[in-house]
Amino acid sequence: MKTSTVVKAAPRDVKALAASTKPSRQEAQAAIRTLLRWAGDDPDREGLLGTPERVVRAYEEWFGGYDVDPVDLLQRTFEETEGYDEMVVLRDIRFESHCEHHMAAIIGKAHIAYLPERRVVGISKLARLIEVYAKRLQIQEKMTAQIANTLNDVLQPKGVAVVIEAAHQCMTTRGVHKAGVTMVTSRMLGAFRDDASTRREFLSIIGNPTSSAGGD
Ligand SMILES: [Zn+2]
Repeated sequence: MKTSTVVKAAPRDVKALAASTKPSRQEAQAAIRTLLRWAGDDPDREGLLGTPERVVRAYEEWFGGYDVDPVDLLQRTFEETEGYDEMVVLRDIRFESHCEHHMAAIIGKAHIAYLPERRVVGISKLARLIEVYAKRLQIQEKMTAQIANTLNDVLQPKGVAVVIEAAHQCMTTRGVHKAGVTMVTSRMLGAFRDDASTRREFLSIIGNPTSSAGGD
């Protein structure tokens, strides 16, 4: 009798595992041809001939976040803050992501704040951090937590706040067809969690997306 062993990859090995089992470009294009046929069309008609290749290229862009380590990205921080200890806020950062349940687009904006303790980071790095997590298959709650936790772990500030407002095309173009609905998620750490006035200041700077965006 044969026994099989299931080896579960630890989270840090997911990337290595994905690389070793990554299908070829030809295999990916063949999968798109299958989906075109599944949709009811003919992948050999003129208008669709280049589509598998284009879709695969689009995927490289939409899912480019898997190739970037978000911790490395933030590693180069500026240690000298010259005593600056006020809130740093970056608001209305547009992002595009895809939901992991339907692979449909999630389009929205993120607001990030932190209260520095010694270290600050360039604002372009904050925007890149959002992009790295957005360009993966996501659920909004997870993405919100990942951004906040990474910022908290690397910068070790007095507090971190992340609020994300987004529309999910799996909700607006199919299923319940609720157009115009946006989902708001937030994660508050440190001073933003413990101190109501710090949290209020942040929420008022970003325009109070909803009255419920104060908890966790
Ligand atoms: Zn979905």
